[in-house]
Amino acid sequence: MVRTMIIEENGGPEVLKLVDWPVGEPGPGEIRIRHAAIGLNFIDVYQRTGLYKLELPHALGMEAAGVVEAVGEGVTHLKPGDRAAYAANPPGAYTEARVMPAALVCPLPDEISFEEAAAVMLQGLTVEYLFHRIVPLRAGDTVLFHAAAGGVGKIACQWARSEGITLIGTAGTEEKCLEAKALGAAHTINYRKEDFVARVREITRGKGVDAVMDGVGKDTFAASLDCLRPVGMMISFGNASGPVPPVNLLDLAAKGSLQVTRTTLFTFLADPARCQSMAKRLYGKVTSGEVKVQIGQRYPLEQVADAHRALEARETTGSTVLTL
Ligand code: NDP
Repeated sequence: MVRTMIIEENGGPEVLKLVDWPVGEPGPGEIRIRHAAIGLNFIDVYQRTGLYKLELPHALGMEAAGVVEAVGEGVTHLKPGDRAAYAANPPGAYTEARVMPAALVCPLPDEISFEEAAAVMLQGLTVEYLFHRIVPLRAGDTVLFHAAAGGVGKIACQWARSEGITLIGTAGTEEKCLEAKALGAAHTINYRKEDFVARVREITRGKGVDAVMDGVGKDTFAASLDCLRPVGMMISFGNASGPVPPVNLLDLAAKGSLQVTRTTLFTFLADPARCQSMAKRLYGKVTSGEVKVQIGQRYPLEQVADAHRALEARETTGSTVLTL
């Protein structure tokens, strides 16, 4: 049995419950990993509240790093004793140890600590696909990135700088704007005080941005369409402020033949070879120093409810790690 944080019903942070949970032996194509650090993500909140449905009771958590303890038949890329990390379904990373589908678990280079890996896997793989697998973004292009001082955001600022892409970042306080700028945002906008559409038009001299990357959702989606150049790409990838209402396709024509996609990391990770190659590119950014992992908060696993409260209250910056 291992200490595991589960939910038996949807609700506020108080539904998170620490229990002893069974951990079995890995079957064919599986491994058992003992966690050293666990990552916290906004998706955990959506699963807790029920916005994203789970069959209950269910353990939460989508990413962790640790040491492989046992491997099942047919697993060749990992062996007992290997350092490894993952961002993957099924949820259940808020635990000391678990069995996982091996294809989605990536060997972890020695230069990256367990805490760094737990902080960066899910958010960093997200940035990888946002910048490389949706529209071809090149040096000199401009993107608008919402919540640029958050977990995904702080990686995006550094990634954009390393690729020569101009990132305009929004954030909810002056302090967060300064943090995003220090990490590579070319321009920042406090979207609780300033009209971000007007500011983006001013910064881009009326041209608009090539792409918007929006994990905030309800509060930012509609106005973000007005920030795009003709045929620009609106990438909606989250709902921190609530889900985006239905889109009227005719609006996209009227605003300049815009493109819209609603993405999820798990589509891109579904192919095991692509999952491993995405992890390699992310590890490269971290080991080269182009992306410095930003751990803003640490909580012991048993205090994960407090971590959820802080994330939902917009009190966090960068990534949050749960310690064991
Ligand atoms: P963050 O650390 O970015 O936290 C969310 C941030 O959103 C807050 O800090 C806050 O920043 C901003 N925000 C704006 N409005 C609200 C609101 N009403 N309530 C709460 N926060 C608000 O979280 P993550 O880095 O974990 O994730 C960022 C987004 O990306 C989330 O929506 C997440 O679900 C999504 N995501 C999607 C993936 C995908 O593939 N689809 C994969 C990974 C993440 P500020 O105060 O500056 O406004």
